[in-house]
Amino acid sequence: MTDLRLATISAAAISHNMQVLRALVAPAKVMAVVKANGYGHGAVESARAALAGGADWLGVADLTEAFALRDAGIDAPLLAWLHQPGAAFSEAIRKNIELGISSTAQLTEVASASGTANVHLKVDTGLHRNGAALGDWQQFFEEAVAHELAGRIQVRGIWSHLANAGTANDTKQIEHFSAAIALAESVGLRPEFHHLAASEGAIKYPHARFTLVRFGISTYGLTPANDVDAAALGLVPAMTLSAPVVSVKRAAAGEGVSYGFDFRCETDTNLALVPLGYGDGIPRQASNRGPVSINGVTGHIAGRVAMDQIVVNMGDTPVAVGDRAVVFGSSISSSDGAPTTVPSAEDWATAAGTINYEIVTRIGQRVVRRYEQ
Ligand SMILES: *Cc1c(COP(=O)(O)O)cnc(C)c1O
Repeated sequence: MTDLRLATISAAAISHNMQVLRALVAPAKVMAVVKANGYGHGAVESARAALAGGADWLGVADLTEAFALRDAGIDAPLLAWLHQPGAAFSEAIRKNIELGISSTAQLTEVASASGTANVHLKVDTGLHRNGAALGDWQQFFEEAVAHELAGRIQVRGIWSHLANAGTANDTKQIEHFSAAIALAESVGLRPEFHHLAASEGAIKYPHARFTLVRFGISTYGLTPANDVDAAALGLVPAMTLSAPVVSVKRAAAGEGVSYGFDFRCETDTNLALVPLGYGDGIPRQASNRGPVSINGVTGHIAGRVAMDQIVVNMGDTPVAVGDRAVVFGSSISSSDGAPTTVPSAEDWATAAGTINYEIVTRIGQRVVRRYEQ
């Protein structure tokens, strides 16, 4: 039986991307970030594929995500960094999950959990999200030293996160981060891992790589920024989203399509019904714009995206029920073996006024993920 809604995910592409990224930043170690269900690609499968490609570390946002990886039998070094007061720190320590720690209050809580916590002290170098504020660094580090001497924690890393706000701002953050490392050393901390850069920073700035880099979006073969050419780096998009055409109609010029008749046919045209909608992560903002490839020809959504369905305007291209509609992905081989270019997650981001991260991460639960080697 063919799946109604299908995300084909190439584990081989994820492994390959990890190898490419590793080579790019060596001798720095690499962390594959598999939060938010592996950016929609499946956390466990993406983690396994990234480890096969040489990832040294895995990263997730929260402990629920971390426990899911451990429950699946993945025992690689693993960092989780977003915690509420009262989070399951003792369980995390027992499961050898390392903890990103962002404040002295959080440090105190982790130090009083059972077992010795492996922690990565996060400093805010300008992003103004998580991490100890500049004025708190000294106390944060001194308390960490005290907890370490008492055997309550082991400081394994110092880290921060870039705003990707242009070279001048990013450079300032890199300088602040270097200052944080120096301050930590001056109070007696000697962690093995210094990590600042995610995909964009690591690709753009060699001096932002320190001893570890956290690769999220690029692990999946997608570009972290419009001025980074992922394909030129050798990265391959891992996910292809597709569905079979379930209905085809010839509509006459002037007829309206989908709710509200936001679209009217300019000429007689072939309309293909594709069973993917905003319930599956197709952004409704891409109504009348989103590109879909059928039989090697790219048409665009006619009218509004519905919860379960979109209508694709295919002009005079012959389309039959059962033909495969590709929403985005890598180039695919058509029946004659020639590569066919299909829309990308970036094309959808443009159509919806968002970023490729959101396009892949929001692919919904109804979409079956099928993994290919
Ligand atoms: C999500 C995230 C990353 C990965 O970012 P990409 O831009 O996808 O590479 C790295 N570090 C932190 C703290 C994150 O939250």
